[in-house]
Amino acid sequence: MISCPNCSKKDTVFANDIEISYCSTCQHYVYNQVKEKKILFSHDHVGEYQQSTREKQFKKVFDFILDKKQNPNFLEIGAGFGGYINYVNTLGFDCIAVDIDDHFRDSYLNAGIKFILQDANKLDITIDSNVVILSHIIEHIDNPKKLINYLGKQNIEYLIIEVPSSNGLIFKLSKLLLRFNIFFIWDRLWQKNSNSPHLHYFSDKSIYKLFEDLNFEVIKTVNSRFATFKGSFRRTLTTENLIISLISVIAIQVLEFLNYLIKSPENKVYIVRNLN
Ligand SMILES: [Zn+2]
Repeated sequence: MISCPNCSKKDTVFANDIEISYCSTCQHYVYNQVKEKKILFSHDHVGEYQQSTREKQFKKVFDFILDKKQNPNFLEIGAGFGGYINYVNTLGFDCIAVDIDDHFRDSYLNAGIKFILQDANKLDITIDSNVVILSHIIEHIDNPKKLINYLGKQNIEYLIIEVPSSNGLIFKLSKLLLRFNIFFIWDRLWQKNSNSPHLHYFSDKSIYKLFEDLNFEVIKTVNSRFATFKGSFRRTLTTENLIISLISVIAIQVLEFLNYLIKSPENKVYIVRNLN
């Protein structure tokens, strides 16, 4: 028995994959890597394919924040190539990017964004920004609870957190397929063959539990697409052959449409207020 890192209940059971544990209390999934993985793709550049689709989403998120907050300034942790922070920088606000890798340092500095080289797993900075963004970060780090708790103690008013959600139909279908020994979609969702796999998979229930325990209030959510047709095709093609890539990408688009209809997205943005 392992206790759930999210709710600490000792009722964690294994799903159909020996590397994944699941908490039936808060519906949180955890990846405990036991098998050696061949790294087939780098996570850093995956997101670039989806940039144009994401602009609409950024607008929705920042319109909401700007309505709430008069003079916001922004800091993005694990900024990578900088989807959110680059977007809000173009609106003329003070922006800081924090990342474990200095690959994009110069492009940030050229754009007028301050850059801090730091690992989100052991973040140690005093944050003056009132809005902090964590886009596809907390599912990659060892202890999301520790990081969010740390941020709660700082002078931050809002967090914008985007994570993959286990409530989406693609996740549910890929879990079902494990019973038939079909692992590649499941492994892809966990990004097991990347340089930064998902160590956690949040459900709506588990992330609300996390926020509630750490004294944050969810004030808005924004549903987000998994990938565009072209984006997911290029991603799948890095590990699968042409036929499998085509079939799975078409299936993914159908499921995405169903997700849209039932309002149960594969990725979700949570805008939360710090009550600490
Ligand atoms: Zn739990």
